[in-house]
Amino acid sequence: MLIDLHTHSRASDGTQSPGDVVRSAEAAGLDVVGLTDHDSAAGWGEAAVVARELGIGLVPGMEISTKLYGSGVHLLAYLPDPTYPALVDELTKILAGRTGRLAAMVGQLRDAGVDITEDEVLAQVGDSPAIGRPHIADVLVGKGVVADRTQAFDEWLSWGRPGYVTRYATRTDAMIEIVSAAGGAAVIAHPWGRGSRHVLDKDTLAELRDVGLVGVEVDHQDHDDHDRDDLRRIADDLGLVVTGASDYHGTGKVDHDLGCNVTAPSEFDRLIEQAAENAAASGRSVPEVVR
Ligand SMILES: [Zn+2]
Ligand SMILES: [Zn+2]
Repeated sequence: MLIDLHTHSRASDGTQSPGDVVRSAEAAGLDVVGLTDHDSAAGWGEAAVVARELGIGLVPGMEISTKLYGSGVHLLAYLPDPTYPALVDELTKILAGRTGRLAAMVGQLRDAGVDITEDEVLAQVGDSPAIGRPHIADVLVGKGVVADRTQAFDEWLSWGRPGYVTRYATRTDAMIEIVSAAGGAAVIAHPWGRGSRHVLDKDTLAELRDVGLVGVEVDHQDHDDHDRDDLRRIADDLGLVVTGASDYHGTGKVDHDLGCNVTAPSEFDRLIEQAAENAAASGRSVPEVVR
């Protein structure tokens, strides 16, 4: 059983349609794929139709932008009711923050001497509801300002760089409670990616578990073997589910091929069980896992 629980489509900053992500997952030999676009459930319907056609498993989810002690934390929400009012409210604020942020980032980049317009970025965004820095990065790549998205982030778009603008994000603990109340299961994406190991230490993860955190994404390209060993030990101690995933973005992110990291079937079962418990307790109408 090959289970990859974290991928992106054009419903956020991936390069393929939701259906094509599922087709690529099937072609890559996966048995189950999780579609987790940023702050959006927009791809779920199309992905589910294709998953049923192909007979591959699909777990609808989303990757929500949250913050804790001033640091960004990505929270994977599996199987929440996307119409749950508190979730809708927060996602609306997050998406509005993304849109307002675009003008500010483009303005700062122009001030720093980069020839870029909002329209150029919007052309890159296409039908995605979640405008993000990767779209700006792609414009910079297209113009030859940088070689790839990584360089765009390192030199222009990360915190402290000329194009960086802060934006609205829900507190991580508050969002875990919202996801649980929406009948979903919350898992922290790449907890120690981009140097955030000090933010999400064992004590903090224990506090988040106490407000409903279900798991941590241990096997992710942002973590080296040492991080993975340490995180796995912490997850075991705290009783958190251990997941693994590619964080696939189509051609938008190199070295994140489908199935490059996977989730163990026993851990997947625990995740689905916990989501089912939250769904029952919440009384919400949650999306189905396609099997
Ligand atoms: Zn992420
Ligand atoms: Zn992601």
